[in-house]
Amino acid sequence: MVLATNLGYPRIGPKRELKRALESFWAGTSTALELEAAGRELRVSHWRLQQECGLQHIPSNDFSLYDHVLDTTAMVGAIPDRFGWDGAQVDVATYFAMARGAAAVPALEMTKWFDTNYHYMVPEFEPGQRFRLASTKPVDEYQEAQDVGIHTRPKLLGPVSYLLLGKWRHDAPADGREPLILLDALLPVYEEVLGQLADAGADWVQMDEPALVLDVPAAARDALTAAYTKLSAVSPRLRLLLTTYFGDLRENLDAVLALPLAGVHLDLVRAPQLLERALASLPASFALSLGLVDGRNVWRTDLDRTLTLLERAVATLGSERVLVAPSCSLLHVPVDLAGESGLDPELRSWLSFANQKLEELALLARAANEGRGSVAAALRERREAHDSRRRSERTRSPAVRERAEAVTAEMLFRTSAYPQRRPQQRARLPLPSFPTTTIGSFPQTPEVRRARAQFRSGRLEASQYDRFLEAEIERTIRFQEEIGLDVVVHGECERTDMVEYFGERLNGVAVTTAGWVQSYGSRCARPPIIFGDVSRPEPLTVRWSRYAQSLTSRPVKGMLTGPVTILQWSFVRDDQPRSETARQIALALRDEVQELEAAGFAIMQIDEPALREGLPLRRDEWDAYLAWAVDAFRLAAAGVRDETQIHTHMCYGEFNDIIDAIARLDADVISIEASRSQMELLDAFARFRYPNEIGLGVYDIHSPQVPSVDEMERLLRKALTVLSPEQLWVNPDCGLKTRGWEEVQASVTGMVEAAKRLRKG
Ligand code: GLN
Ligand code: ZN
Repeated sequence: MVLATNLGYPRIGPKRELKRALESFWAGTSTALELEAAGRELRVSHWRLQQECGLQHIPSNDFSLYDHVLDTTAMVGAIPDRFGWDGAQVDVATYFAMARGAAAVPALEMTKWFDTNYHYMVPEFEPGQRFRLASTKPVDEYQEAQDVGIHTRPKLLGPVSYLLLGKWRHDAPADGREPLILLDALLPVYEEVLGQLADAGADWVQMDEPALVLDVPAAARDALTAAYTKLSAVSPRLRLLLTTYFGDLRENLDAVLALPLAGVHLDLVRAPQLLERALASLPASFALSLGLVDGRNVWRTDLDRTLTLLERAVATLGSERVLVAPSCSLLHVPVDLAGESGLDPELRSWLSFANQKLEELALLARAANEGRGSVAAALRERREAHDSRRRSERTRSPAVRERAEAVTAEMLFRTSAYPQRRPQQRARLPLPSFPTTTIGSFPQTPEVRRARAQFRSGRLEASQYDRFLEAEIERTIRFQEEIGLDVVVHGECERTDMVEYFGERLNGVAVTTAGWVQSYGSRCARPPIIFGDVSRPEPLTVRWSRYAQSLTSRPVKGMLTGPVTILQWSFVRDDQPRSETARQIALALRDEVQELEAAGFAIMQIDEPALREGLPLRRDEWDAYLAWAVDAFRLAAAGVRDETQIHTHMCYGEFNDIIDAIARLDADVISIEASRSQMELLDAFARFRYPNEIGLGVYDIHSPQVPSVDEMERLLRKALTVLSPEQLWVNPDCGLKTRGWEEVQASVTGMVEAAKRLRKG
């Protein structure tokens, strides 16, 4: 029998119950016991729901109070010394200290989970790292499910991926070796956990090894063999399913198929070509878990097509060896479509969130087991929805398509090259040397959020809300004037989120009311859904920027989110290449940029913080991506006159390896995160002469710490060892939205002071 299975269910809860529980615990208004009870309630309801849907393999240990990589760090006791952990079971305080930092103890680093918008806490190792079992969470949660009568498939992050996702402590010399050398020390803990799971009655265990879709060193394949030879010997009753997702295993597939496993899971949404390879060489002892339902996007599955693949697998392997699954954990999609009554009914009929995907999985298994006829009505209904999407006028705008096709190479170029633009911009904008500016947003205080919520729920009239925003903008402008910033901004108080704001205003894009997806810890985002051809029905931002400019004689910078970032932080249509969608968004933004120019703005900033994270997981695919991503940015930016200055901004991650692509954006000025890494980025500029102007962030806005003027001056002088004085701007690392006014006042005043010191020589 083909089994319907799941790889992971969203943890946050249909109403973000986990967020509430966490934040009230952190605020001290609830106890650890209450938090634990809230977690348990979510887990149990998620298991029941999956059981009711008819799933046969239901995951446990997919829940987490913060992050599953952090859970693994707790499980194996890899707690860095600074957390002062005493060696027993990791307690909640230590756990959250690692996640969020504690008095003067910095948190673990956080970074993106593969190419998703989920962030994990990076494991931190030291040479000679010791491991020991320090959390029984996997076994506890398995038992917890047993206690409510549900047999689950426990899920662990596999040891090879765990090590590959970690890094050495900053000051720990590792002589160029990889953390993989810690494998032998790590494995006994995994053996212990698997032994406990076997004793508790588990049979199938899901071992996630997503790192196998990356370019891993050859040593990783040896590590894999060493690890799974050991782990599969722990207990004859355990059946290890090695799960991979987010891409093709390529050269790692053969290594996986040679392991003593009970089965392997492949992401056939991202890598459909894997199916034939696997069917041709799957060992007779292996089951195959087919990742057929897209865990990364919100579209309904094309069941006819998918069933054909499933039937093909059953014909080759027999139904006993086939599992049907989502491509990856459902962590990356919203929980339930049922609450989205505000969506247009036709669009809604095309969508599938986590709960709908569970139904699809059950349907697929049933069709494979009992024949398509047994679910004919459901198949028909879905086929109709699918056809309606394919045929819908709503997804296609002839005007947009015509325009996108007519894009010429000239449209990607400014009239003149930067050296000619520069004097014209200087003439138009008399700025001091080392000009100061910010990245765009100013504190989004509880009052701002309250006013927005009141407006959305109809408790505040539009005109009242507008007055509120005007007052907020005025306060922001006055603040910047007083502090002496050279280029000012309106502060972005009207935007909840830099992508959602544009999503709400563009044709072809829908937003949800509760389509929350976990970003990190208790933080969630509601990614917009790009379902059709994108265009701009009316100006998106001009009004507030213009209002800001009416209040001041200083240059106001118009603020836009770039095409790649809008794409990257949305659910994107899957019926055309991403590059095509990016081009349409770019054209809409191009109009906005030109409109701002016509309204008199001399500076526009087009943020692309997500440019880097859009990089494909495999290096040999980078160039193709960067080519269209850079073009999309240029298409948005290049329609302005020479004397108009285009800025861009980037943060999150390392930029050293894409610095030439960043230069190809041909922005007049780029502001980029640098203070957190102590200007590590400068190494790249030492090797590569960045041609245009650049602001390296001197104020780490992720920290509540107010940096001293001396410290900021030191960073700037460090930058001047590599950059020329004419190139350098002075700005924070990123927007100030999450900070309070008081710290912003102190930090930004200091920043302006540091720039003044530089001007004195
Ligand atoms: N302009 C945005 C802001 O200041 C940029 C945010 C970002 O880079 N993530 O908030
Ligand atoms: Zn930023």
